[in-house]
Amino acid sequence: MDLDLRLDLLDQLYTIYGDFIRQQPLACTKGCSQCCTCNLTITTLEGEYLRRKLPPTQHSAVMQRLVGAADRPRYRPSVTLNQLADLCARGEDPPEEENDPDWGACPVLADDLCPLYEVRPFGCRCMVSRHDCRQTGYAEIAPLILTVNDLILQHIEHIDAKGYSGNFTDILLFLDQPASAASYRQGQLGAPPDGLLANQPLFTLMIPPEHREAVAPLLKAIRAIRPQGQ
Ligand code: SF4
Ligand code: SF4
Repeated sequence: MDLDLRLDLLDQLYTIYGDFIRQQPLACTKGCSQCCTCNLTITTLEGEYLRRKLPPTQHSAVMQRLVGAADRPRYRPSVTLNQLADLCARGEDPPEEENDPDWGACPVLADDLCPLYEVRPFGCRCMVSRHDCRQTGYAEIAPLILTVNDLILQHIEHIDAKGYSGNFTDILLFLDQPASAASYRQGQLGAPPDGLLANQPLFTLMIPPEHREAVAPLLKAIRAIRPQGQ
């Protein structure tokens, strides 16, 4: 499927999730940024989405900050979510991951505000809490929200099955190289470079039995989305 059409599907997934999450009781407010860490992961599709939506000057400023943070330690996943779902379905253990919140704040965070908030990746949209993390020291996410988060993330990876997943900084640095961006846009990416992972289609949904009924309308809405005009 053409990249423009896939970006349109991503937009629709963001809207479905936005409608869902607005109905949840959350403590999240503007300027609350404890959850904004350098360990955020995204897909190439989400990276391309924000690259296209950000005005050029703002995009340059974001890239400058990411280049400046390129040497800092950050979480680099060793499996994608759809790979993890398949591992779990086969009863296999997921690999050990190295992830430390002390690696620091998201490189683009400025004065506790996100300069790309309107076009932020899904990993930022789904990081929510019932209680203010600044007081509790941790996020408290309702189990149903966690299930819905996985549901959307699995579909994003599925739509971007010819792309990559990885750390926010790594994906955006990758897409900032003209040759890499051109290969991605033409659907011709080869094996991923170090630090990035090849996405895969969705084969196994991670919905616990107790949430199947509650997520059924959302799943129906997700399965009904089509690129605009089709
Ligand atoms: S998840 Fe926690 S730190 Fe992030 S905005 Fe919500 S309350 Fe604040
Ligand atoms: S991209 Fe924005 S919302 Fe996401 S972690 Fe970074 S500063 Fe926070």
